[in-house]
Amino acid sequence: MKNILITGGAGFIGSHVVRRFVKKYNNYTIYNLDALTYAGNLENLRDIEQEPNYRFIKGDIVDQGFIDNLFSEHRFDGVVHLAAESHVDRSITDPLAFVKTNILGTVNLLNAAKKIWAGKEDGQRFYHVSTDEVYGSLGPNGLFTETTAYDPNSPYSASKASSDHFVRAYGETYGLPYVISNCSNNYGPNHFPEKLIPLFINNVIHNKSLPVYGDGKYTRDWLYVEDHAAAIDLVFHKGKNGETYNIGGFNEWQNIDLIKLLCRLMDQKLDRPEGTSEKLISYVKDRPGHDLRYAIDASKINRELGWKPSVTFEEGLAKTIDWYLDNQEWLNHVTSGAYQEYYENQYKGG
Ligand code: NAD
Repeated sequence: MKNILITGGAGFIGSHVVRRFVKKYNNYTIYNLDALTYAGNLENLRDIEQEPNYRFIKGDIVDQGFIDNLFSEHRFDGVVHLAAESHVDRSITDPLAFVKTNILGTVNLLNAAKKIWAGKEDGQRFYHVSTDEVYGSLGPNGLFTETTAYDPNSPYSASKASSDHFVRAYGETYGLPYVISNCSNNYGPNHFPEKLIPLFINNVIHNKSLPVYGDGKYTRDWLYVEDHAAAIDLVFHKGKNGETYNIGGFNEWQNIDLIKLLCRLMDQKLDRPEGTSEKLISYVKDRPGHDLRYAIDASKINRELGWKPSVTFEEGLAKTIDWYLDNQEWLNHVTSGAYQEYYENQYKGG
């Protein structure tokens, strides 16, 4: 029996990782540590909360004493670290929250792992889940590889880049066994509707405008969240210590083309005349420091670990839309209260 800590397991990607690990690995006890910020939601895990190998712990990774006690009590054999402040727009208005959770929180976890793993070499592993945004912005050509120099542009990506560096430094300096992955944009069920795809699905459902930043030409690579969870499972178990793996969908879209595809699919699902949802598009003031293009070269994880995405973008989007239409109660819960105030501030005039 192994004790595995997953941080941020009540969030979007973390909930898929927790579910996968709980169901697949009966020989693990999975501890889901989450502070339940606005982005964390235990409704994401209702179907597995009674499983005998699952435990939820509410707590803040920024609290060093709490983290130290937790590690000495449970003697974790592995850590999959996803807890983070994750929204670029919020990092522009409150960078310090990102410094605290993403940098300080990660260093607290590293220190606690280092302490309980000292002198042991028994398959322990610290896995840091990170983003392709650490690499900065691409021009019209080229792809981010594992050796691309870090060049973060937003407070969010700067905080993730910093935490990646700390993880590496703990490997080099103290011999901490670690692995890192940097993934492109995820989409799918349980995604908080401040991010593009769930925001637009929710707005189309409610006939609200679809705020497109700048000229809509920003380009991102998109990956279905369950494919990311499968890649995380593989990297955690089969990745080499001290390595980084880029994860992506081989699936680049300009925002405006993606939005038009989403609008077409929503018209079909909602049985509305074609073109109805597209009329909701409205261009809003650009995000400062907006990166033009991200694109991932995921050939290393494909070649070395045999991973590739399992669904096409059209299949993944259709599944995602169906999930949001079937889970409107979830949407109503997460978009009540504080969300309304955030939304009004973020898109005023949009
Ligand atoms: P999310 O915002 O949906 O979830 C983050 C979770 O972390 C939430 O449950 C929240 O309650 C928890 N959390 C926040 N601060 C905490 C703290 N101080 N202590 C304990 N828990 C805390 O984020 P996500 O989109 O699921 O992203 C998860 C991870 O994957 C992040 O590290 C992010 O950088 C990385 N990532 C995300 C994407 C993406 O497209 N969403 C892509 C690549 C990498």
